[in-house]
Order: sequence, then structure tokens, then C-alpha cells
Amino acid sequence: MERTSVIRKMAAELRTRPNLVDYEATRRGFNWEIAHDALAGLPGGALNIAYETVVRHAGGRLRDHLAFRFLGQNGAVRDLSYGDLAALTARFANVLRGLDVVRGERVFVLAGRIPELYAAVLGGLRAGCAVSPLFSAFGPEPIATRLNLGQGAVLVTTESLYQRKVAKIRGELTTLRHVLLVSEGGETSGTPTDVEGTHNLGRLMAAASDDFPTVPTRPDELALLHFTSGTTGTPKGAMHVHGAVATHWATGLYALDLHPEDVFWCTADPGWVTGTSYGIIAPLLHGVTSIVDEGDFDAERWYRILNEQKVSVWYTAPTAIRMLMKAGPELAKRFTFPQLRFVASVGEPLNPEAVWWGKEVLGLPIHDNWWQTETGGIMIANVPALDIKPGSMGRPLPGVEAAIVREGKDGVVEVIEEPDVEGELALLRGWPSMLRGYLNNEERYRKCFSGVWYLTGDLARRDADGYFWFVGRKDDVIKSSGHLIGPFEVESALMEHPAVAEVGVIGKPDEMVGEVVKAFVSLKKGFEPSEALRMELLAHARKKLGAAVAPKEIDFATTLPRTRSGKIMRRLLKARELGLPEGDTSTLEAGA
Ligand code: ATP
Ligand code: MG
Repeated sequence: MERTSVIRKMAAELRTRPNLVDYEATRRGFNWEIAHDALAGLPGGALNIAYETVVRHAGGRLRDHLAFRFLGQNGAVRDLSYGDLAALTARFANVLRGLDVVRGERVFVLAGRIPELYAAVLGGLRAGCAVSPLFSAFGPEPIATRLNLGQGAVLVTTESLYQRKVAKIRGELTTLRHVLLVSEGGETSGTPTDVEGTHNLGRLMAAASDDFPTVPTRPDELALLHFTSGTTGTPKGAMHVHGAVATHWATGLYALDLHPEDVFWCTADPGWVTGTSYGIIAPLLHGVTSIVDEGDFDAERWYRILNEQKVSVWYTAPTAIRMLMKAGPELAKRFTFPQLRFVASVGEPLNPEAVWWGKEVLGLPIHDNWWQTETGGIMIANVPALDIKPGSMGRPLPGVEAAIVREGKDGVVEVIEEPDVEGELALLRGWPSMLRGYLNNEERYRKCFSGVWYLTGDLARRDADGYFWFVGRKDDVIKSSGHLIGPFEVESALMEHPAVAEVGVIGKPDEMVGEVVKAFVSLKKGFEPSEALRMELLAHARKKLGAAVAPKEIDFATTLPRTRSGKIMRRLLKARELGLPEGDTSTLEAGA
């Protein structure tokens, strides 16, 4: 009760912000034309993400406003204003033009979160190329697969990544024409520019003009290639268009409440869709200052960044929140977060326990939201204007229609109108950032649609208030004694136990009941695995969930296998449990 009233009060305070008054009316009155009106556009109905995010701001009031603050690995800080970014993107676009790289060709970027990555992504878009940021920790294999699948013509990378990962596969990259290398130790240190098509990026940038007429791309022209996380199998390459920017604008406003005075920190790497849609595009559209931390997760440093950089809006993921929880309350108590006013999470279900942790440690409950690589932007959210329902993904955003569907007659799905019934989560097709295809996989793409609906592959239910509740991925749902059990429900119940830091739940084949529920648990600091604790956790889960749903088996694990985007790989827990082949593990986090 007490917790509910706290959330109500906070929501009421937030609602006083002008763009959030009467969310219901906003949603009803919304259509995508409104988002288009808020964008500048280019003559002849053209639309270019780089123009909307950078060029138009640099020509106006935001010219000297900070776009990015990079916190370097070595403690160095580098600031870029909107004006600086406009100049860098123009230089990069001119470099491409100088190399005869034309509109529609594909530019891949393989780098840590350094300024050059941001300049290349936005500069590539400005030049009318399609861009694909790759996660820098990928090994040579996944790099080659993605570049070949996406027909990369240009690769931007650093000297050391080139030496370690690209040099040995260069011969396999048949479509690649140019490699642009970022020098790390001074301007031209060690760049092997003697190999044909290999250039020193810094040198070319310095010689290029900082003036470039943005290519007037069509709204349906290819802009970004993003690979899925590979949680359920081999990653798929989703194709996104420039028109997606309308979704980024609307969701930046209604789901994240971004305003130019905000200091925003999206912790995702641009190698995953979140790190591009919300680490680059949405904050720039709204004239926000973004913090970019070049380092990996570190609880103490992250708390310090929130505090020292005066972050006001924070967008992170359940995996990071769980790691902060695991690090314990003592550490958190050393910091305060007076500027923080809104925190949101995406990527995996956010257990109610994590929502409350936010309230206790950060002073704010955490707003969960749901989307996928394929949707290009946030679709369902606990928006700042409405009360949070902890454990729920929230409600569809303005311009988004979501439904729960089941298989119908003639192979076309039908909508389940009654509330609280589980089924597949579906979205009415046609929102601007909807994927336009999977690279080289037309058939898989076609399977995403049934009639007017895009099928998400996730199971959920909708309650009577219109909030959506995640049940599990279709692939992960457990069938036990005739019950359908969503792993999320079991994981959330176990998370409520004070010893538990993280849980992954699978169905283990069983002759009697079909599948039995098995949980893998990692413990918080200060707790040790023991038979007594195992019994305690089993009893705790039985009390919360009832005997039919509670796990029958619990194993302790120091860490759970995760994708590099932070998702627990239940299919791997299962494969390992059953001694089966692990399948595609190209996105598995190192050491997991
Ligand atoms: P692959 O498609 O390759 O298996 P993936 O689905 O994990 O990988 P992403 O597009 O990065 O790749 O992740 C989207 C998925 O993440 C969603 O379909 C959903 O299963 C999960 N997800 C994202 N946000 C949430 C959330 N708030 N609650 C529950 N699940 C979420
Ligand atoms: Mg997926």
C-alpha cells in the first residue's frame, strides 16, 4: 500500500510537465503526422536522420549546446557540441564521397564508444549510406558474418581492433572496398595504409571540408542495419529506414520525457539497437546532452557518473540493475542522485523487486519498457505520465496499437479481447520504425506478419487497465502437468528472496509431467550456496507460486550465461543442462 501511494505521488508530480498532461487524450489524438510536423524534413518530402538529429540543430539555437560528453577509459573527457558534431559528420560524409562511396552503400563501424563511432554513424547517414554499428567485442567470425550478410562496402575501425580482428579475415570480406582506421596513439601511429583500400581516418577527416549538403533520402530508404541479440538463436539482421526517426522522436518524448536541459545517459552500446535509437538518435532529436561512458560496467564508477555528471534521465537495462543490486547497499549509500528525475529500463523483464530497489537506492522507481530490434523503438512503456505497475511492461505508446492474439482459422491470427488471457503479443503493422526486412532472410521476415499484425514472438497478457504483462518468449514457455508457465513469473518470485541476485528458469523434459521447472540462481554478495539455502528457496517459491508453478530443482551458479546485450540465455542453460550442442554463441558474453 505504502509503495503504491509513493508511486502515485511521483507520477502526479511528473504529470505537471506540459507534454505529459492527460496522457490518454494525447494518445487518442496522436497520429504520425504530428511527429512528422515536429521534424524539419528536407525539400520534396525527403527525410534524413542525420539532418534531424544534428544538422538542423547546428544551424539554430543549439549550435553551442553540448550533444555528447565522452568519458574516456583513461579518465579523459571529450565534449562535442551540436556544431562540432555537424562539422564532424560533414567531414566524414566528404571522406566517403572522396572514396567514391555512394548513396545506398553500406558502412559498418566496429569501435568502442569513441567520438569517431558517433561521427561515422551520423556522417554515413548524412551521406545517404546505410550504417551498421557492430559491437567491438565481437570476434573475427561474427564480424565477418555480419559484414558479408550486410554487404559492407566500408568498415570504420580502430588500429588495434583491425590488427586483432580484421586483418586476418580481410580476404573473406568480399564486398569490402575501404577500411578507415582510427589512430589511437597520435595521428598516424602504426596504420597499415600500404594495404590497398586502407586509409587513416584522422588524416582524411582533417583534409575534408566541414560543409556537406545532406543527401535527401526518402523516408523509406534504408538507414540502419541492426543485428538482434541472438538470445534465441542465430542473430537476424533487421533493416530500418530513415522514416524511423518519427518513432524515435515520439518515444523520446512520451516514454523518456527528454528535454534540451536534460543530461541523459543511455548505457547501451550502439552495437545493439538501444544504443543507436536511444544512445544516438532520440536524445539528439530532442536537443539533449548525452553522457557516453567508454568503459564497461563497474558499479562504483556507474554510481559516480550518475552523481558527478548530474544525470537527469537514465536509460539502462535489468542486467545492470541486477548487478548494482548484487553489489550491495553499502556502496550505493556513498552516493546521492539529486538531479535524477526519471529512470527507465529495457531489454528483459524488470522484476518488481528491481522497481523498488530503484525507489530505495536512486530515489526513483524504475519504469520498464518493452521493444525489440525489429520494432526500432520503444513500443510499450510505463510512461512517466501514468502510474507504474511494477512487473508490467506498461501501455502502448501514442501511435502504437498492441494486442494479444492467438492462432485463428485460415492461418490468420485473431485478437483476444478479454483481459488477463495469455497469448502472443502483436503490434498493428505500419509504425515508422518497423523493420523492412531481415538481411538475406525473406522467409523469416514474412513469418513476422499475419494479416494486419506484426507478431513479436513474445507471450504476454493485457489487464483490464490496458497494461501489458510479459509472460516469456514463445520459445521459453514451460509446459508442466498441463500448465503453461512463464519463466518470468518464477524468476520474479525468487528475486524477492534477499539472497538472490539473478535467476534463469528453464523447463527440463520429464516423462511424467512434460517439463519440470528448474531454476539457476546466482547469489548476492555475502551469501554462500548451501543445501539449507536451496531448501529455503524452494520453500519460498512454493509459498509464492504454489506447487504447480514453483521450481522443483534449484542449482546455484556464480554467473548466468548472458548475451553481450545483457539478456539471460535460457536456451544455453537448457542445452548445458541436457548436454546438447550450444548452437550459435557468437553473442555470448565472455566468460559466461
Ligand atoms: P534474438 O531475436 O536473436 O533471439 P533478442 O530477441 O533477445 O534476440 P532483441 O531484439 O535485442 O533480441 O531483444 C528483444 C526481446 O527482448 C524481446 O522480444 C523480449 O523477449 C525481450 N524484452 C525486451 N524488453 C523487455 C521487457 N521490458 N520485458 C520483457 N522482455 C523484454
Ligand atoms: Mg528477438
